[in-house]
Amino acid sequence: MKVLVINCGSSSLKYQVLEMDDNTLLAKGLVERIGIEGSVIKHEKIGMDKFVLEVPMESHKDAIGHVIDALTNADHGVVADMNEIGAVGHRVVHAGEKYANSVLVTEEVMKALDACVDLAPLHNPPNILGIRACQELMPNTPMVAVFDTAFHQTMPESSFLYALPYEYYEKHGVRKYGFHGTSHKYVAERAAAMLGKNLEDINVITCHLGNGGSIAAVKKGKCFDTSMGFTPLAGLVMGTRSGNVDAAVLDFIAKKENMTLEEVTNVLNKKSGVYGLSGVSSDFRDIEDAAKSGNHRAELAEEVFIQRVKFYIGAYLAEINGADAIVFTAGLGENGISMRERICANMDNIGIKLDAAKNNVRGKETVISADDSKIKVLLIPTNEELMIARDTAEIVNAL
Ligand code: AMP
Repeated sequence: MKVLVINCGSSSLKYQVLEMDDNTLLAKGLVERIGIEGSVIKHEKIGMDKFVLEVPMESHKDAIGHVIDALTNADHGVVADMNEIGAVGHRVVHAGEKYANSVLVTEEVMKALDACVDLAPLHNPPNILGIRACQELMPNTPMVAVFDTAFHQTMPESSFLYALPYEYYEKHGVRKYGFHGTSHKYVAERAAAMLGKNLEDINVITCHLGNGGSIAAVKKGKCFDTSMGFTPLAGLVMGTRSGNVDAAVLDFIAKKENMTLEEVTNVLNKKSGVYGLSGVSSDFRDIEDAAKSGNHRAELAEEVFIQRVKFYIGAYLAEINGADAIVFTAGLGENGISMRERICANMDNIGIKLDAAKNNVRGKETVISADDSKIKVLLIPTNEELMIARDTAEIVNAL
């Protein structure tokens, strides 16, 4: 079966077509500036040069129309017509507490997604638009929704509850949800395969370090805890997000800077993290370059980031009574050689020891710990699209 995977943002849309018989990627692409002047589709049939077309796209439906044109094009397409696509898998950010697994899209599911818009006002609306547009343009093709929050639904109450008045959880759903679930699940499964063990028999700590970052404690195959919270603002220091801060800071800054709480939250989301600390950039490569050339605030940004990663690794080792493996994934986790080295430095007493030569690698599934490291350290490139396509094919094949 061929599966089209769609990841819809507010003004962008990423897609891939995968052949699930042998898990191969046939085509991928990106539509940018949907609804903004300068809309463009960048399409790539694997093994061929990129095809780029600038054309006005007012809506997500227009964008998906151009994706369909690209996929069925005689030169750079991968199907003769869209009936060859057996199913569409949609990445959806938030399912609240409703779904702990991927689901076939029905009107009831769409209602549940609408009900979660409050919890993810920036993410769920474009996800919903993407599904609606595909339904209109591919009315006979089954659709599956795969949720960022689903994998974390196994967290016990002791992990997901905040120590707030309990009624805020009951009335408004204020709790930890966790994000990047598809990635954490994928790399945890790959970690078990690399160790030659069943995931249900091991503990893994998965570090998804990209522009956004989160860490998950995966105990015997189930998520036990994760660093992101009610929203993706919590936990680690990120590109522009602060991660955890004392909640009292919000009111204090609001008064001092004459801002609303909404404005302060916006600063925490968009102007903080390594960007806010360094004043240089949200990109870890720029921070590293600046630190190397002696920029003290860039050095500090790196140190605060590293210490927070260590904090979660330590906390999760304690929460799940040790781990068989620690996994690094996503942009920085897969490529940041010196960052991985610095995160893992001085942890040999708790069983983590990197091998500098083995760690000198990027974007490849491999063991990077020393032979005598009690806890294996693994580098595993994430593949959320493959995970979405697999869930989609599995659900649709069972219909
Ligand atoms: P992602 O959100 O997963 O695409 O990750 C983006 C982040 O990965 C950016 O902050 C990049 O700076 C970081 N990154 C990508 N390549 C490298 C690299 N070679 N060294 C360090 N960081 C990198």
